[in-house]
Amino acid sequence: MTEHAVVIAGGGPTGLMLAGELALAGIDVVIVERRASQDVDGSRAGGLLSRTIEVLDQRGIAERFLSAGQVAQVQGFAGIRLDISDFPTRHNYGLALWQSRFEPILADWVGELGVPILRGREVVGFAQDDTGVDVELSGDTSLRAEYLVGCDGGRSLIRKAAGIDFAGLDPSTSWLIAEVEMDEEPEVGMRREGGGIGPVNRLEGGGPFGVVLRERHVEHTGDPSMDELREALVAVYGTDYGLRSANWISRFTDMARQAASYRHGRVLLAGDAAHVHPPQGGQGLNTGVQDAVNLGWKLAQVVNKTSPESLLDTYHAERHPVGARVLHNTMAAVALSSPDDRHQALRDIMTELLSMDEPRRRIAAMLSGLDIHYDLGDGHPLLGRRMPDLDLHTADGPTRVFTLLHDARPVLLNLGEPGGFDITPWANRVRLVDARHHGVWELPVLGEVAAPPAVLIRPDGHVAWAGDLADPELPRALARWFG
Ligand SMILES: Cc1cc2nc3c(=O)[nH]c(=O)nc-3n(C[C@H](O)[C@H](O)[C@H](O)COP(=O)(O)OP(=O)(O)OC[C@H]3O[C@@H](n4cnc5c(N)ncnc54)[C@H](O)[C@@H]3O)c2cc1C
Repeated sequence: MTEHAVVIAGGGPTGLMLAGELALAGIDVVIVERRASQDVDGSRAGGLLSRTIEVLDQRGIAERFLSAGQVAQVQGFAGIRLDISDFPTRHNYGLALWQSRFEPILADWVGELGVPILRGREVVGFAQDDTGVDVELSGDTSLRAEYLVGCDGGRSLIRKAAGIDFAGLDPSTSWLIAEVEMDEEPEVGMRREGGGIGPVNRLEGGGPFGVVLRERHVEHTGDPSMDELREALVAVYGTDYGLRSANWISRFTDMARQAASYRHGRVLLAGDAAHVHPPQGGQGLNTGVQDAVNLGWKLAQVVNKTSPESLLDTYHAERHPVGARVLHNTMAAVALSSPDDRHQALRDIMTELLSMDEPRRRIAAMLSGLDIHYDLGDGHPLLGRRMPDLDLHTADGPTRVFTLLHDARPVLLNLGEPGGFDITPWANRVRLVDARHHGVWELPVLGEVAAPPAVLIRPDGHVAWAGDLADPELPRALARWFG
């Protein structure tokens, strides 16, 4: 039986990102992916939000995506546009980039890092014991792994086989989504009921068109048909605009469910396998990629025996609340999008509220992931928050914080006098960087914060400690997070 340190079930956005993170840490990882190629059926995610672009920037690969998509103010809440151009980040925008383009670019990176992908193969079961997991594959073969991560999407076999509860709300509404050719020019734009019609090629306009239509019924048996699409178009627009053909037709609902636990022994869940919710706000792919970045370095350290298994519990502790918040805000967005007059009145008031700076900043920071704050206890406001991408001056010349994170290793950034801390016990895994930064430290929502003399940055870009190098908490934080 072939052995690997980590087997990832599912090579979608989450599985690919996790594989990249593990490979950067030198972990022997393999992806098992049901699809024969990286092709994505249908449209799915339409882009990246600010924090995801930052996370990719932390690995030095943001430019690959930025050059393939279109930077824009894409953030919105229930169709209410939220401009983040005044946010303190280099990426104060979103990126319009279809998932079908996102995945191959990410897969290329994973390929460069040497991760094998077993394509056209499925995980069909597993059994875990004290030392590892036997992972059963289609075709009557199996793999042995120390850990198995289910990145296998909303219908996750791994989650079900692990017996992890998927609690939440059943769907209340169903939408049809399709890419179509029409003989007539349709009315382009969002509809009050949450759907709308728009050109697939957002730069050039024209057909084919993407349509999203609220359906009359929630329950359906079988795949959506052309007739159902035509019917839904006529119901909403009074015409089918000479609907000629559909490149694909799909359906989604507002089901909102979350795994009760992101870990069961040697089995972990990430991405849609751990949380499903309506696509409002475009947070699904983004949350999965960020789950992967939170989990990757922790799992690597546990596999390397740098850290005890209990480090993996911080993955659930940190990411479950983030996922719960996404479910919560998408439920609110769906409710706000109800097409009746009372909800329209509520939406008008929300629109007015969100035109004010403070509410806009709060909600936009939540949706973009820029305000994520892991509860690491009391201390400097940076603790548990994302490290800003400061411009730095080092002995080797100018650099910036995110560049220091490209190899996914922790960094102790000293902005005071060099010396003053003995990094020797951690020297093989934590990089001490002496640097200078001239300028203010500004965080999303919080605004300006006092500049700490030093800061310990985790590989996911979150701050594990901030203070003076003489602080007795520093060795404790280093030991807690990095063994
Ligand atoms: C209509 C629609 C619109 C959306 N819009 C947005 C948006 O605007 N923004 C956004 O961020 N998100 C959006 N999403 C959500 C986004 O597509 C998902 O959140 C994202 O794909 C999750 O990535 P994942 O890797 O966790 O799961 P998936 O993309 O579902 O990937 C799971 C992978 O696992 C494979 N797999 C499944 N079972 C097995 C198995 N047993 N063995 C091996 N492989 C297996 C599958 O083939 C698949 O490749 C949308 C989704 C839909 C349906």
